[in-house]
Amino acid sequence: MMKGFRDLSQVFEQIFSATPWPTLMLGEDGTVLGASDESGAGWVDSSTPPDVPLRERSRHYLGLLRGAAPWRSPQEADSTRTQPSGSVVHERIHLRPTAWGSCLVVVDQTDLRELQAANIQTARLAALGFMVASVCHEVTNPLTSLHSIVQILRSEINLSQEMLDKGLGNIAINVKRILDISRRLMQFSRVGDEPRFRFAIDEAIEEAVHVLRHEGLLRKIEYHHQPDPTAMVFGNTGQAREIFVNLFVNAVQAMAGGGRLTVVTRSVAHTVEVLVSDTGPGVPDELATRIFEPFFTTKGDQHGTGLGLAISNEIAHEHGGSVELRQSPLGGAAFCVTLPKWRA
Ligand code: ADP
Repeated sequence: MMKGFRDLSQVFEQIFSATPWPTLMLGEDGTVLGASDESGAGWVDSSTPPDVPLRERSRHYLGLLRGAAPWRSPQEADSTRTQPSGSVVHERIHLRPTAWGSCLVVVDQTDLRELQAANIQTARLAALGFMVASVCHEVTNPLTSLHSIVQILRSEINLSQEMLDKGLGNIAINVKRILDISRRLMQFSRVGDEPRFRFAIDEAIEEAVHVLRHEGLLRKIEYHHQPDPTAMVFGNTGQAREIFVNLFVNAVQAMAGGGRLTVVTRSVAHTVEVLVSDTGPGVPDELATRIFEPFFTTKGDQHGTGLGLAISNEIAHEHGGSVELRQSPLGGAAFCVTLPKWRA
């Protein structure tokens, strides 16, 4: 038994009675010294049927923390586990070192997660509703062209090879346009229950750069990234990556002959900011308010869908942030992605 444990058990009782969450007391070697569900004063497990005792869950929680002796450093982690009843619980683990070892508090966030998922879904549906009208309009144009071309080809009795080739070429262009639009919209309409976690925004940026390198898009570009390891956010990494893929692809397309793409990440008070700047021609003032509109493009129907910025802004919005056009320090365009900073 640990030295002074008799006195400590009284300290534990005090803490257990003052803490409304399941709490574990750990010794210097990580062993469990006390659990609030074993204490008469502490938090009571009211789940029916009862959950696994805290002491038995300690190994699972410690396995989620970082470091060889995780109970020695203050940290947080997210846990998802299935109770014996089959219910899935999402919990946030808070670990703080103490004079006797450490204290591990488990906060149930299942309701919060469900509420967040429901809010996101509602926002998505509202935004989708707005977009459906634009989509119908955008898809109707190429469909009308397709219809006319097919009618003309069918009505021609002496159809020359040249006319047939021209007609088929036109059909291919219009089909590609519809496919481009539907592919981009699929990214947007993906059901909003994708898992959300705490992650470093720089991870999403690096993943986006990997996608561009893989496509050979950075060959003529001088890329520089200034990361900030404190820039942590809460959300879906895949969706965050999508924002940066869209911004980087736009920057690369704007610098057709090559140029510089600079990404600066920084934590500012309660937000995380990422400034993406390029050395392209920039966005003309008169277009500044239009570029975020769905289907607005200056790249022509064959090269742009006009959905990249609208989708990026929507994803940022769902994460409580935004994408804004800014003055570029490099003389071209600059877009600032702002997201709420994760606070433990
Ligand atoms: P798309 O790329 O399909 O045109 P976006 O919504 O991504 O659709 O962009 C809308 C428009 O914003 C682009 O057509 C372009 O005119 C402008 N734009 C976006 N990024 C840049 C950039 N980095 N430099 C200059 N113009 C840009």
